[in-house]
Amino acid sequence: MDIYLDANATTPVLPRARAAALAAMADDFGNPSSVHSTGLKARALMDSVRARARRLLGAPTGDLLFLSGATEGIQTAVLSALSSLRGREDIDCLLYGATEHKAVPEALRHWNKLLGLNLRVLPIPVGLDGRHDLQWLRAHAGRAGLACTMAANNETGVISDLDGIEQALAGSPALWMVDSVQALGKLELRLAAHRIDYAPFSGHKLYAPKGIGLLYVREGAPFTPLMAGGGQEGALRSGTENMSGIAALGTVLEALEDGETFMGRRTLETYRERIASALKSAFPGVVFNAPFELSLPTTLNFSVPGLDSKLLQDLFDAADVRVSGGSACGASKALPSHVLEAMGLPAWQAASAVRLSFGPASDPAFIDEACARIGSCGASLRASCLGTAEEASTPGNALDGLTRFVVGGACCYLVADADSRRCVVIDPLPELTGRIAQLLRCQEYTLVAVLDTHSHGDHVSSGGELRAALPAQFLSPGRFDALGWPQGVDAICLGAQMLTRLATPGHTVDSTAYLLHDAQMHIRLAFVGDTVMPGALGRSDFAQSAPLAFGPSLKKLEQAAGPRTLLLPAHDYDDRFASTLARECAAQPLLAQVLAGSIDARRFAEAKAELEKDLALTEYQTLACGARVDSGCAGAGHEMSAAEAQRLLRENPGLLLVDVREPYEQRLSETLPFGADAHCEAVPLSGLLNALPAWLALPAGTPVLFYCRSGNRSAQAAKALRRLGHAQAWSLSGGLALWPARGVAAEPSAAVH
Ligand code: PLP
Repeated sequence: MDIYLDANATTPVLPRARAAALAAMADDFGNPSSVHSTGLKARALMDSVRARARRLLGAPTGDLLFLSGATEGIQTAVLSALSSLRGREDIDCLLYGATEHKAVPEALRHWNKLLGLNLRVLPIPVGLDGRHDLQWLRAHAGRAGLACTMAANNETGVISDLDGIEQALAGSPALWMVDSVQALGKLELRLAAHRIDYAPFSGHKLYAPKGIGLLYVREGAPFTPLMAGGGQEGALRSGTENMSGIAALGTVLEALEDGETFMGRRTLETYRERIASALKSAFPGVVFNAPFELSLPTTLNFSVPGLDSKLLQDLFDAADVRVSGGSACGASKALPSHVLEAMGLPAWQAASAVRLSFGPASDPAFIDEACARIGSCGASLRASCLGTAEEASTPGNALDGLTRFVVGGACCYLVADADSRRCVVIDPLPELTGRIAQLLRCQEYTLVAVLDTHSHGDHVSSGGELRAALPAQFLSPGRFDALGWPQGVDAICLGAQMLTRLATPGHTVDSTAYLLHDAQMHIRLAFVGDTVMPGALGRSDFAQSAPLAFGPSLKKLEQAAGPRTLLLPAHDYDDRFASTLARECAAQPLLAQVLAGSIDARRFAEAKAELEKDLALTEYQTLACGARVDSGCAGAGHEMSAAEAQRLLRENPGLLLVDVREPYEQRLSETLPFGADAHCEAVPLSGLLNALPAWLALPAGTPVLFYCRSGNRSAQAAKALRRLGHAQAWSLSGGLALWPARGVAAEPSAAVH
């Protein structure tokens, strides 16, 4: 059973609301504008729902319009207010709370421009507690035409001080919009008792279906219809009314009025306390990002030091607990939440937040189950040594082979040998110090060396920091050179494997490649730093670069490692994982020329300098991302739908299915839904590099189908394998979330959670 804890995004539809909607589509399907009895019935229903809404929202006067939802309500309110401001000399700005839902500032900018007002659109700052800075508001209210301040925040649950805002607006010409979406059913609203001019609502945030909403408009407040047409809703909002939505909303409002379905504030607070304590014991060190005493009891926004929001979301999802990231995810990295940033929370907290929200109809059994699942998420993390430093961890499988970590496109590698319990970190990153130290302490590994592939002009390596974070018993003694190589040794042994180094000056004078050899002394992989990045060569125009040495270094690398050894870069902006000199030669003519000896070191350096001359660093990264050099791999050709995958599963017994989720997710998931005969492997994305050579050695026609939770990570794996030459690499589009046995076509939950 899913534990749905994302009620601030939307809620399931209350069973009786669903029944009411169906009835309004079956027998009672009338158009409320028709004058025959079918139409009259519909009108009577609509009138009764409106009357009920007036009672519940404290809005006996003014207009209460049915419309499609809050976004439409916001547009209508903003259009109405701004239309009335044309020609007003006393107005020079529009104000909105810095933590408003995007719909508000976007609507303000849109209509401000479209109506040619060109007023300043200013965010009202908020404090660390998420509440508006009333002094600032007072100072700016005198020339404001509209102030928009939400009743409660969707990300944090912080409840605005509406009385304080009203006082700050005293004497101001500003109209006032209060986005009340998150307050419906959770806060007592007495709209008409305030000077609130506009208040939009969305039904789907409180157990009604999507597509139905309300807008309150104070009596006498300016109004301009957004929709003109048949004159419905007193000509304030034309268009035949959404009667099934209205009927459903009516039953939700009825349930609110009868007081039996929705829990009271005190009960919801006890739910929150229980969830908070489950989070504290699962994730010691958890911090809550908004003060409980000022927030809706149904919303918990939290961050866990050392665990990013994506990791936590994947973890919860594996336990079938649906939560939301407190931040928006861009294509390559999570963007920090604008709400938490506006509150002035530290960057890590804003970037790693998770929002957990439940509906007011949740029952105690649901909260019990939610707490139990949160507990199992914590246990699974501890088994992967990802708990916090203070807690005792019980490691699952011993670390073995290569683990790749990526932070903002920079790569760090951990090479570990389970038998000898020895490991090496290559290209450490400060963001990973705590996590890697915890992993090694928990698994009792000796950190033999922390190696950098080159020194950095602008910062010192975090290798020292990592060593300092570990007690002496987890560190190899001895002296190390500037890049972390143990003095006096030619090779570092990691059980049967061995690391050697190769000077490759170019990107910097001290650039060094590290070669990983197997027991037979064959080179398995090379860590090449910024000498070769997939799709580009590293820059050689820094003060510490050695451009004339770059060409000879590449030749040296080719002689040592050959054209087909996997090269692992220090930067990978495009999830390519690895490359080979042979592939890079095909994509980069300059590299091919220098390796073929058709240009000498000087001409190579000059040509490279020419290429770098006009490129800013970001453009260089774009070049490395390779749209220009490797466009053949772009697009969605690697994706396979669930139906296609099922067919392939039936027709091709050689199909290899690879779960690329991390072990802490796999541990929480039930048996995979592919049938007993399927050939399955579990290779987490962080350990993908270990398996690439074996997959590349498969017969060319062997399909490899990667899957994960949503299809993002499996797409990375499939693209990486394709780029390296195995054309039959696929990603299960939509991931396990869309696999039929997981109930994608399931009815919206009948449970009232
Ligand atoms: N305002 C707030 C506070 C919200 O939480 C949302 C939805 O997330 C909206 C406005 C927009 O609502 P809708 O998408 O239903 O129009």
